[in-house]
Amino acid sequence: MLNDPYGRKFKTLRVSLLNTCNLNCFYCTMGSEEEINYDHRPQKPAAFFSQIISRLHATLDLETIRLTGGEPLLYRELPELIESLNEIGIPKISMTSNGYLLGRQAAALKAAGLQAINVSLDAVDEPSFYKMAKRRHLDRVLNGIETALGLGIEIKLNAVIMKGMNEEQIIPLVDYAFGKNIPIRFLEVMSMGHLHHESDKYLFSQQQLLDQIATKYDFKRLPRKASATANYWQTADGNTFGIIANNSEPFCSDCSRLRLDAEGNMYGCLSSNHPIALDAEDSDYLLQEKLQQAMSQKQLHHFIGSELSMLQIGG
Ligand code: SAM
Repeated sequence: MLNDPYGRKFKTLRVSLLNTCNLNCFYCTMGSEEEINYDHRPQKPAAFFSQIISRLHATLDLETIRLTGGEPLLYRELPELIESLNEIGIPKISMTSNGYLLGRQAAALKAAGLQAINVSLDAVDEPSFYKMAKRRHLDRVLNGIETALGLGIEIKLNAVIMKGMNEEQIIPLVDYAFGKNIPIRFLEVMSMGHLHHESDKYLFSQQQLLDQIATKYDFKRLPRKASATANYWQTADGNTFGIIANNSEPFCSDCSRLRLDAEGNMYGCLSSNHPIALDAEDSDYLLQEKLQQAMSQKQLHHFIGSELSMLQIGG
């Protein structure tokens, strides 16, 4: 049994299917207007991921798998991969996406067995959306959300709030989420990639987020669930919102996440992320050793971050 002196286990696997993205979000790419997120390497086939994931599931008895990237909706064999993950028997199959291509793909993904999507939505007005993502047509994302909801796919919203970039979007995002009855979580910016040494400049802290939301809503804090990434609050009207406070309240001590990148490398932590190359042919003994190595990457208290952007390691 894979163990950690602090009782942590790997129960959630995040898989980055590709490093290519169709948005240029400021936190990943410094908001370049050029197409800099295109990875020219061929995408690994669905069989490559499903073989490795099947080995990991046999050892770890995973509870959740989250497909991400880059942008997972750009992965060509996405429905086929989701089908094969269902056959492997992983209880919950979810995805993190910018939602830009969701409208046309949601039905096929639902049919393949996708249960839930975390849509990254940092703004609900067009100019702010452009400022954060350097793309027009926020309406594509909003329509994608509607389509997915209509199909019965569970949707949550994730919004990164950055000082000087989109803090005026906090109340509009809360209003949008409450109006549609969709859970929303705000993220403090993390010191990843080009922000590794200057995330403080953009940090909009948990307390600042709460102060801002309090200008319109009354709320009280809910008890934190084990291994949860977010802290939650409930408003007087019964709506809830969360904050993923990587900086103000790091949640490393009960983190249950394992990451796999688009090349088949494993990481136990975002901060200490030396790639551990996996091969579906690894012996059970070797796989166990590699998992132990990934477990030893886990930090206990502080989120340190890394030079790698989430685009590469998988957000
Ligand atoms: N393209 C997909 C999407 O937009 O959801 C999946 C990958 S993207 C890297 C996933 C998410 O990681 C982003 O939307 C954002 O919420 C988060 N992210 C990336 N870099 C971040 C940073 N430096 N700080 C906080 N969140 C970040």
